[in-house]
Amino acid sequence: MIRLQNISFDHCIKCTVCTVYCPVARATHHFPGPKQSGPDTERLRIKSPELLDESLKYCTNCKRCEIACPSNVKIADIIQSSKWRYFKKSLRPRDFFLAHTDLMGSVATRASLLVNFFIKLPPVKLFLDLFFRIPSERRFPKYARGSFLAWYKKHRAEQEAFAERAVYFPGCYVNYNNHELGKDVVTVLNAMNIGVIVSYEKCCGVPLIANGYIDRARKNALLNINSLAASAAESGARIISASSSCSFALKHEYRNLLELDNSAIFDSLDYITRFIHERFLKGNLPELKPVRLRAAYHSPCHLERMGGVMNTIEVLKKIPGLDLTILHSECCGIAGTYGFKKEYYRVSQKVGAELFKRIERADPQIVITDCETCKWQIEMSTPYRVEHPVTVLARSIDGGKL
Ligand code: SF4
Ligand code: SF4
Repeated sequence: MIRLQNISFDHCIKCTVCTVYCPVARATHHFPGPKQSGPDTERLRIKSPELLDESLKYCTNCKRCEIACPSNVKIADIIQSSKWRYFKKSLRPRDFFLAHTDLMGSVATRASLLVNFFIKLPPVKLFLDLFFRIPSERRFPKYARGSFLAWYKKHRAEQEAFAERAVYFPGCYVNYNNHELGKDVVTVLNAMNIGVIVSYEKCCGVPLIANGYIDRARKNALLNINSLAASAAESGARIISASSSCSFALKHEYRNLLELDNSAIFDSLDYITRFIHERFLKGNLPELKPVRLRAAYHSPCHLERMGGVMNTIEVLKKIPGLDLTILHSECCGIAGTYGFKKEYYRVSQKVGAELFKRIERADPQIVITDCETCKWQIEMSTPYRVEHPVTVLARSIDGGKL
């Protein structure tokens, strides 16, 4: 069977626009850019896999090239699947641990105080740098105590009592690191008279895909598709996620990269601000208190690829007292686990440098973004705190401090 995606390189008209927009090609001469690494050499790789070029590994899968391409060539998908087809799977323990977020999260949340304390110690950082090739400059997100799922189980009955409900996929970051964001989702939706049904089974697969654990990613994806489809069918609800990368994976990477049938959930999936914005437009707008805050909004690459940035901006514009600067579209450079690897760390920081400068020029009180890994990168590389749009909305609803 010939899949359309596999021959999309034939639609390339050689305009080179993708290379102009590629943040990695701009940051390092080790990567020739999407045109050459994607459509140009895919033809050759199909005929002679030995023509494989190590430079493919520099691609972050940010999808900016695909947004720019006038011919709808699936450039990033071509590069990602070429990496799996031709490179041997990495046997590095580092990549295994970075990829298996459920394993790491379920262990670390049992001893979060200890893990958060030790991971910051200079000798531990040096050890990780020398033996695991995780750069000592890199900061790790803090682990929470216990899981968000455990918190949710205590509140399930009250959420099921709402007449309208949404099925929420929290993702690893909310489940293991930031329960507060999950609670903010509940605050916002409850204020709109919508209950939250949590259907969380496994990591969406983004870090597994990035590190080449494709069989595991497919297993997770199938489990998530079945579980989300069952929850949505039972309650007739939409399926939402507040992580732009999880959302992109569930909707597009499952279908285009993992080649799975996600039609059982495809039409029900919404990134959260699209879901909220649609309801705001229909008049379901909760009472909002002024937040009196100067903020800069950074749009994550995968949300841009989904065409969802306008929904976030429209939701934020409804918050009284929020003085919002929309930052010029730039990649932050972290690309999930990419920025945690010593061999890519400098490229990752160079990619993000223009964004960091623009944030400093805007000099906000906080930065707002939809992606957890953009948050880690910006908080590590600038003096600014970063919050999710839903958190800002939740504080406008409950009057809490930001
Ligand atoms: S996905 Fe991003 S890094 Fe990779 S080729 Fe496209 S623009 Fe460049
Ligand atoms: S933007 Fe699209 S059509 Fe133009 S060179 Fe890149 S892949 Fe080819």
